[in-house]
Amino acid sequence: MNEIVLSGIRSTGNLHLGNYLGAVQNFVKMQHAGNCYFFIADYHSLTTHPTPEDHHKSVKQVLVEYLAAGIDPEISTLYIQSDVPEISELFLLLNMNAYLGELERTTSFKDKARKQPENVNAGLLTYPVLMAADILIHHADKVPVGKDQEQNLEMARKFARRYNNMYGVDYFKEPVAYNFDKELIKIPGLDGTGKMGKSEGNGIFLADDEKTIRKKIMRAVTDSGPTIENSKMSESVNNLFTILKIVSSADTVEFFTGKYKTCEIRYGDLKKQLAEDVIKIIAPINSRIKDIYSNDEYLSRVARMGAEKARTSAAKTLKEVREIIGIRKFY
Ligand code: AMP
Repeated sequence: MNEIVLSGIRSTGNLHLGNYLGAVQNFVKMQHAGNCYFFIADYHSLTTHPTPEDHHKSVKQVLVEYLAAGIDPEISTLYIQSDVPEISELFLLLNMNAYLGELERTTSFKDKARKQPENVNAGLLTYPVLMAADILIHHADKVPVGKDQEQNLEMARKFARRYNNMYGVDYFKEPVAYNFDKELIKIPGLDGTGKMGKSEGNGIFLADDEKTIRKKIMRAVTDSGPTIENSKMSESVNNLFTILKIVSSADTVEFFTGKYKTCEIRYGDLKKQLAEDVIKIIAPINSRIKDIYSNDEYLSRVARMGAEKARTSAAKTLKEVREIIGIRKFY
């Protein structure tokens, strides 16, 4: 199979269970089946203005966690976005055909503008354009992402089509959002609302030890329990069941769903089981994180190899894109 698979993760902090189950786990499953590019979106993370130390630390952390989760840098192209300057140039060129109205209407922009009203920068507005550049630079067919990224993928398709129409070419392919297990998923947070996120304070991280995971899950928001048979679940309890359905066996899900329906459920038992099943997924990754983190020589080799492979593909695309636009040298 010659399909090109690409996906990235912002380096805004440690990877959480949502990142792993929604995205990274898919990368790991796909790496043997396609031509895979996985990257660390460090430019995207500058929209939140990290300090230089925090920025560098986060990039290292995500690189380590990608590797610990099972990405093989010999098989996949694993790189850091800022190591590939061609992406920035494609971003600039795509920006010429991206319109203020459509960017302002993007849900992720509106969300961010609401969450950080003191810092509504142009990087937030043009986030989907940079994402399109990330994807189109390698002509990706499939982009394994969580459900929250569907709209940005739609925009990447729009920018690809627009470029093709504008220059009368059939150059860029239209990438599709993809989940290895059929449906895109959204892992909710433990605070009873919304999705699990890096900055929401509602996450379980791959770097969390077993004790921390147990503590976080035992503290997850619930309600006072069902009192009428077959009653509708509150959002917070439904969230725990959503995670349970993804990490636990069908028997476990059936057991607790039954207990809920008959009002016999004890949330403490549900949480204990959920914690053990989450630990089963995270513990092996967690122990690899510690080993890889201290191996700077290995990390440097991986990053260099990834940058070289990614630049070869990116430089070819950029040369063709410039040529199509009419940017041709006089010397
Ligand atoms: P981000 O952490 O926003 O940079 O997202 C990186 C990747 O993780 C993207 O593919 C997202 O779709 C995915 N992702 C982030 N949060 C979640 C979540 N709560 N559930 C599922 N996927 C997620």
